[in-house]
Amino acid sequence: MPNHNAIHEMLSMQNTLNEMTNGENWRSGLTQLGKVIDWRRCIYMETAELIDSYPWKHWKSVEAKTDIENVQVELVDIWHFLLSLALEHFDLEESAGLLEKAMQVSQKSQESKKTDNESSVIDQVAIHEEMMRLALQKSEVSQAYLTALASAFFNSCQVAALSFEQLYQIYMAKNVLNKFRQDHGYKEGTYSKLWNGREDNVVMFEIIAKMSVFSGDELYLSLKQYYSQVG
Ligand code: MG
Ligand code: MG
Repeated sequence: MPNHNAIHEMLSMQNTLNEMTNGENWRSGLTQLGKVIDWRRCIYMETAELIDSYPWKHWKSVEAKTDIENVQVELVDIWHFLLSLALEHFDLEESAGLLEKAMQVSQKSQESKKTDNESSVIDQVAIHEEMMRLALQKSEVSQAYLTALASAFFNSCQVAALSFEQLYQIYMAKNVLNKFRQDHGYKEGTYSKLWNGREDNVVMFEIIAKMSVFSGDELYLSLKQYYSQVG
């Protein structure tokens, strides 16, 4: 099953990323600097950012449009933390199984509903709030809990029109960009995030949008080419 392999690959990359940024013992709930790691807090705070991409405010910019691209970006942020939460409590194989099951639960629940694609802003926000509600729970992270939270995540992806393929591509692309930044002086403070007035991740999105088939190596080379022209 291709989804299974993709989930597996992302879990493995996330583990590497967490080891690099938080230390080998990140599963202990503390970083190497002793900072508390709370993946569920990360999830609900990113969900707040996600909801803020909708014109939900009744007193301000009432005519504003949903920033759906940013909703998708926040979903990919949440995915990083959801992978981490799974890996904190389950091994890689179990995590992959649970996430895959959550995807199926979400798909089934959507099939049973009548598909009205044009749900209102408030209906969409309510779907995202369900993910937030689950992330705010302090209960033990059981298999059932993780599956419920992850299926709420996939429901959120569905209302934001983010397919699993896109989630995968953007996740992989962000990983390439992180590596590119590290290779070009990010830690040393010599890296420039602004590329001729535009943020590097905006350029990255443009590059992947033009690709017919996603390739991490190709993305890295294109980034290199753009970056060499930054004045
Ligand atoms: Mg944000
Ligand atoms: Mg964010």
